[in-house]
Amino acid sequence: MDPDCLFCRIVAKEIPATVVHETDTTLAFRDISPKAPVHVLVIPKAHHPDVVTLSRADPALAADVLASATAVADEQGVLADGFRLIFNNGRWAGQEVFHVHAHVLGGRPLGPMVSA
Ligand code: AMP
Ligand code: ZN
Repeated sequence: MDPDCLFCRIVAKEIPATVVHETDTTLAFRDISPKAPVHVLVIPKAHHPDVVTLSRADPALAADVLASATAVADEQGVLADGFRLIFNNGRWAGQEVFHVHAHVLGGRPLGPMVSA
């Protein structure tokens, strides 16, 4: 737990979030500024800054995040039509919160993968 980290504080329930899925090791909650009808963030409860550090430090936990993202997509009803799973990693990807999170995006056609 990093007391200065926004998502650690959500895990600690110091900051409210709309939780849609939880396991022993992961938490999934709605993005506060949704970019699609379904926009859920899936995080490990343990603090790792980004997906590179997570997958090097604890690959089993990285797999837990992927399994939870799949469960979220299923529960949110976007498996059949398809959805996007995004990890922004670092500055050029526009990462803003440095507690690793997968974006689960769906509920409408999502258009091009990146803007020009
Ligand atoms: P990223 O640019 O990949 O780091 O994405 C950070 C995401 O966190 C953005 O989509 C924000 O809208 C979202 N976000 C920031 N603060 C909160 C919060 N308190 N609860 C839920 N989502 C948040
Ligand atoms: Zn954190």
